[in-house]
Amino acid sequence: MSQKVVPRIFLSIPGEWKFKLVVQNEKKDTIRVSKVENVEVWFPDPLEIEAALSDDMYEAWNETLEDASEMGRREKSFWIYAVAKNGEVSVQRDEIKDGPWIMNCDETAHTDFTAPEIISPLDPLDEAWYPIGFFHTHTPLTYCPPEAHRGVGFSGGDIQAVGAHGIAFYLL
Ligand SMILES: [Zn+2]
Repeated sequence: MSQKVVPRIFLSIPGEWKFKLVVQNEKKDTIRVSKVENVEVWFPDPLEIEAALSDDMYEAWNETLEDASEMGRREKSFWIYAVAKNGEVSVQRDEIKDGPWIMNCDETAHTDFTAPEIISPLDPLDEAWYPIGFFHTHTPLTYCPPEAHRGVGFSGGDIQAVGAHGIAFYLL
């Protein structure tokens, strides 16, 4: 006797998943194993992430400008999350964090890159938070003498961190 079983699987966790079904009869003398099915759950698109958080990115940038003075400067950063809830995925951030104060113009500002919190519920329909990106600002050199300079864009350290984490990076 053969019976076709169509499992209904709800997935709210981004990633590439492999599923197989293992079924045992009541006498426990027969086990059936299905073939492996590949299921891909998409991350939000980088442009989607940017659109969802562009106000927040400018807020962090404005805070960076406000903090810069003759006395010092510091970077701002936040982690970007895919939040899965009720079968919908949205883009959220955690709080804007301050990097350490940099008091002299010879030093490069940097930011705290501590690994973010992951909330992975046992029930896949509960709210889940997965880090998908990291945003940080670079400080303006307005209050530094003209000979203090650095390249525009990602620093060497930034590029290394991207490689280590394999996530989207945003810079302002
Ligand atoms: Zn950087």
